[in-house]
Amino acid sequence: MIVIKSPREIEIMARAGQVTAQAHRLVEQAIAPGVTTGELDRMVEEFLLDLGAKPAFKGYVGFPAIICSSLNHQVVHGIPSEKVVLEEGDILSVDIGAIVDGYVGDAAATYPVGAVSPEARRLIEATSGALEKGIAQAVAGNRLTDISAAVQQWVESQGFSVVRDYVGHGIGQSMHEDPQIPNFGPPGYGPKLAEGMVLAIEPMVNMGGYSVKTLNDGWTVVTTDGSLSAHFEHTVAITKQGPQVLTALM
Ligand code: MG
Repeated sequence: MIVIKSPREIEIMARAGQVTAQAHRLVEQAIAPGVTTGELDRMVEEFLLDLGAKPAFKGYVGFPAIICSSLNHQVVHGIPSEKVVLEEGDILSVDIGAIVDGYVGDAAATYPVGAVSPEARRLIEATSGALEKGIAQAVAGNRLTDISAAVQQWVESQGFSVVRDYVGHGIGQSMHEDPQIPNFGPPGYGPKLAEGMVLAIEPMVNMGGYSVKTLNDGWTVVTTDGSLSAHFEHTVAITKQGPQVLTALM
């Protein structure tokens, strides 16, 4: 069942979204060679708690940290650690969830560490572009998979592949609500999108094949072929005026 949010609820979700966006800015500014993902995790924890927000990921199905930090060929759900030291040329996908007044904001982005290869840069831009293509379809009257198809078509036109095993999701008082939002498939299927739906759209894009696997830590998802991967996500409300990106920095 897709939970429809009132304009009042979307206002609260916009505040959760802003906190999430601000945490991302903090991370983006801190990322540099020599920094550990454990430091980024502590920084975000402190920031969220200072604002009276609650980290959404820690303890969720047992996840052990505040942020997900996925390095290079890691796709999603990487666990921050003092042992993971960023190096020039790395790319780091960071996923942050924040709860404000009971509602969740969820956003991810892939950041370059210093100067990265032109191919890595192109992967990041293609994935960010895929998210924009998906958001543009988050319009009342469209079908859910219009989002999916727009993402896949864009990604494949750029020569990359979309991950099949993980998908976007509805979001509200729970981090994962209906519907699931695949990043692939033909347009025109699934529920009709309507005002008041709030969706976390999140393409995960691999430079090589789309196959992924989970490491022995039970969390970290990596590309099977070892190729680089990028991930962008926004929490988006469908409104009368069109898609409202709640996790974009104001
Ligand atoms: Mg998400």
